[in-house]
Amino acid sequence: MNSYIGTVLDGVKRRSQNEPLFLQAVEEVLESIAPVVEKHKEFQDKGILERIVEPERQIIFRVPWQDDKGKVHVNRGMRVQFNSAIGPYKGGLRFHPSVNLDTIKFLGFEQIFKNSLTGLMMGGGKGGSDFDPKGKSDSEVMRFCQSFMTELCRHIDADTDVPAGDIGVGGREIGYMFGQYKRIRNTFHGVLTGKGLTYGGSLARTEATGYGVVYFCQEMLKNKKTSFDGKTVVISGSGNVAIYATEKAKSLGAKVVALSDSNGYIYDKDGVDLDLVKRLKEVERKRISEYVKEKKSAVYKEGCKDIWTIKCDIALPCATQNELDGEAAKTLVKNGCQFVAEGANMPSTPEAVEVFISSNISYAPGKASNAGGVATSGLEMSQNSQRFSWTFDEVDNKLHQIMINIYNSAKNAAEEYGTPGNLVNGANIAGFKKVATAMMAHGLI
Ligand code: NDP
Repeated sequence: MNSYIGTVLDGVKRRSQNEPLFLQAVEEVLESIAPVVEKHKEFQDKGILERIVEPERQIIFRVPWQDDKGKVHVNRGMRVQFNSAIGPYKGGLRFHPSVNLDTIKFLGFEQIFKNSLTGLMMGGGKGGSDFDPKGKSDSEVMRFCQSFMTELCRHIDADTDVPAGDIGVGGREIGYMFGQYKRIRNTFHGVLTGKGLTYGGSLARTEATGYGVVYFCQEMLKNKKTSFDGKTVVISGSGNVAIYATEKAKSLGAKVVALSDSNGYIYDKDGVDLDLVKRLKEVERKRISEYVKEKKSAVYKEGCKDIWTIKCDIALPCATQNELDGEAAKTLVKNGCQFVAEGANMPSTPEAVEVFISSNISYAPGKASNAGGVATSGLEMSQNSQRFSWTFDEVDNKLHQIMINIYNSAKNAAEEYGTPGNLVNGANIAGFKKVATAMMAHGLI
């Protein structure tokens, strides 16, 4: 390993011993940008790596709220403003009991390179809370969101930091947080993305991450002279990303046979009935296990890991980090899977990534293939600044083109730096170069 990178990594390991996810993300990026660092000695002279692994600012705060019975609860809220070299901090908010500073730092770090790849002016940030919206009433979720935003609103602004949704944060939560921001700050501007269509949201934002993953995967398929048509697809998760990846893959002629949630997965040999999934998950907020009560062609299995034992041509992990390990990757490859494109952030463990790369299958890391969500958030910001809305097709066409561009940037960077076909290296290198160049231009800050 390059000695400069080794020294920086040792420093991160020392200071972030209790942050395994953050370390995992940093290690992957630093290892793959070694050839760029070798070529640009000025990055070392100016301490670019030491600076890029340290957030510009971390905000941690108390979020007190009352449940419907009047009982007081306290959750922890946080926002990590990681890097603003190429634009205002941009990245989602995650509400899930597993959220801690490690989760948010890993997501914020990944976001720097992802946002850079989109070609839009967006820095990297992420936030969230260990609050669990599952099983809470609308009023409880509203009170929590209002309390969360009462503190967060001091730190964000349309030109400073623009949060969006992520796990556990969808249109409902964004609406409550936007309302509270507007009330306290007495300004109506695009401080959050993923907003409702009646108050500044963008058409196609809901669909964007899922559609974007499929657009990216389409380029991988084209590169191997094939297409989605007639392919069998397994998708993990059944949230926003999974649902719209399913929709786009089906529209291109693929058969999606499995979806999951954190309790288990369904396998429907006839192909999943998306209208039913949308009703269960988006409207009724039920578990995926309910699907088999209405669909006799399907079976439900408890536990989500075995979803990767289902035979498929294409796998799209769209649930959460480290959901696909080395064993699962080997099984996928053994069963003939040829394409893996990540909808979730870092869903494949380092061992799984190693299996995909050494087996020569086409593999796309999330920071490239799931960038469609944040790219469309960037388009929502542009529309808000113009006080204007584009049509669904206009946004979708821009999204499609951005995903093609990201694929080409990653592919070309991988070739230029001597690892053709390795989209992990390509995405990290292409994303890093732009941010590092901007940091050099700004002087030591
Ligand atoms: P949602 O909350 O809409 O859905 C998440 C899905 O993943 C649910 O089905 C959930 O099941 C499942 N899931 C969550 N945690 C776990 C777990 N520990 N084990 C197994 N399954 C789990 O979130 P999104 O669809 O928005 O996000 C999914 C992934 O995509 C995340 O990694 C997110 O960071 C990433 N992403 C999202 C973007 C977006 O625009 N929404 C943009 C880019 C990336 P359950 O309901 O049981 O919790």
